Amino acid sequence: MKKVWRRTAVVYLLVAAFLAGLAVIAVQFFTNGRIWATQRANLHLFSGGTVIAAGAVYDRDGAVLAQTIDGERVFNNSARIRKSTLHVVGDPQGYISTGIHSTYRTELTGYSFVNGLYSVAAGGKGNDLHLTISAELCATAYDALGSSKGAVAVYNYKTGEILCSVSTPTYDVRNKPEDIDSDTTGKYDGIYLDRVCNGLYVPGSVFKIVTCASAIDNIPDIFSQTFTCTGKKVLETGTVICSDVHGSQSFEQAFANSCNCAFAEIALQLGEHTLSQSVSQLGLLSELKVGKTSAGKCSFNVSGATPAELAWAGVGQHTTMVTPMHMLVLAGAIANAGTSAKPYLVGSVTSGETNVSTGKTSYLDPVMTSQTALSLSGLMRNNVTSKYGDSSFKGLEMCGKTGTAEIENGAPHAWFVGFSQKEDCPLAIAVVIENGGLASENALPVAQKVMKAAYNTIK
Ligand SMILES: [Zn+2]
Repeated sequence: MKKVWRRTAVVYLLVAAFLAGLAVIAVQFFTNGRIWATQRANLHLFSGGTVIAAGAVYDRDGAVLAQTIDGERVFNNSARIRKSTLHVVGDPQGYISTGIHSTYRTELTGYSFVNGLYSVAAGGKGNDLHLTISAELCATAYDALGSSKGAVAVYNYKTGEILCSVSTPTYDVRNKPEDIDSDTTGKYDGIYLDRVCNGLYVPGSVFKIVTCASAIDNIPDIFSQTFTCTGKKVLETGTVICSDVHGSQSFEQAFANSCNCAFAEIALQLGEHTLSQSVSQLGLLSELKVGKTSAGKCSFNVSGATPAELAWAGVGQHTTMVTPMHMLVLAGAIANAGTSAKPYLVGSVTSGETNVSTGKTSYLDPVMTSQTALSLSGLMRNNVTSKYGDSSFKGLEMCGKTGTAEIENGAPHAWFVGFSQKEDCPLAIAVVIENGGLASENALPVAQKVMKAAYNTIK
């Protein structure tokens, strides 16, 4: 009897081990199935490391950005569109790891846990992706950037749809330059990087938006203070230089003049703790999810800073770095009473006539009160009407801030961050031109051209 029990126990143990093994395989299959099925060795999907069998990618108007024809991945017919949408759409080899071809590989190939790659095997293609971007608008932004390196992004702050996202330098996937990896002149620097989400830049004066928000919330008499600018502010630990001698100014005038002396004074009134807290509250120190990719955290560190360093940080210099996407979404939050819609790129996923999923509007956490947002909007509106020229943003009721960010080597980066208050144009924009020089001469005209085209896209 004892022997029988022992044998039964052994059988139970074997069964238990078998079931445990099965469970491990099931879990592995569930968690890794997509990766196994969509890896480059799978000849159903890839040929010579290039994605071939996958659904099509369309822009918001139905223009084909990429599709598979006779086992070959084919991109849009226009070189302008291929270049301007490269970083959003991605390349067939996956060098641009944040592009749709890499991040939405599962959807494009139609992989599902139950059916595996059934839709590719059965129909020769996966799901189609319908993006929120306008290819023509991206091409307009690309033209406006010219040969400069930089980024332009536009999104709808009420719905979250990204209409334009362009990063330069770029290249044509159809005629990829052969010297791209061997070049030493720097013309292709960071060419695989999507600068909209992953370019970290010194913000310069666009950061005054942040210092402004902090001042509105934390300095009760800020709107009745007067700031005097003599062209420089001498502190014991260093001197903050201004671009001009602005004389006596109100808070509103100091923002429109982009006066470094006034904002140095404001940063010192706020102090390192309060200013840091505001930067964090405004979402700049958090990763920002954009579909299946994300914009990395910005950097702001004034802990233990000298008064001069804190003053420089308050005008967007010192060690401060931001991404264009963070500045875009901050502009959107100001425009939308303190709460921005979450930016997204994929409007819908379809399989033949069937809708697989639809991109929905959702909201980020509020970053400021509606009252602060309203005050900031007023200040940014005043910048446009009193300084940049309202007529250049014809009828758009534009609000904005320029920035000329000093960097260690080379000409400053030129910035513009802003939004339209027009009811039927709920769009925000961020422009950065690397070594672009004066923002008013270079970033502002790009923003004007792109906003005009963006409004025409949605109206
Ligand atoms: Zn000044």
